[in-house]
Amino acid sequence: MHPSGLNPALKQEALGKLLSLCPHCRALASQLDSVVINESNNAELVHVRCRTCQGSVVALLFSTGPLISSIGLITDLTPADAVKFQQATELTEDDLFSLHAWLQQPSASGDLLAINR
Ligand SMILES: [Zn+2]
Repeated sequence: MHPSGLNPALKQEALGKLLSLCPHCRALASQLDSVVINESNNAELVHVRCRTCQGSVVALLFSTGPLISSIGLITDLTPADAVKFQQATELTEDDLFSLHAWLQQPSASGDLLAINR
């Protein structure tokens, strides 16, 4: 049995229905590479990347009785980002106010530019 518990044939069928073409550039499904990000007994989170345009989709596949349903979300996340942000907490209003206050500091723009160096 597949470790996720999702029937591999049904999973492939659900993914094929969700992504028969690349939603970014309409390339054929044969151009799409998928990586499982996380899995449980009745669900899998899959990252799909198009080899033609490098566009990505995160797809959630979940079993509902004998069927597998799917939801796709166009994303700019890489597979590594998808793993990282899956554990992240959502931003709050306080986070935004803190960022706003921090940006008011005279040194903020210099500090911000230094972050990526
Ligand atoms: Zn594409």
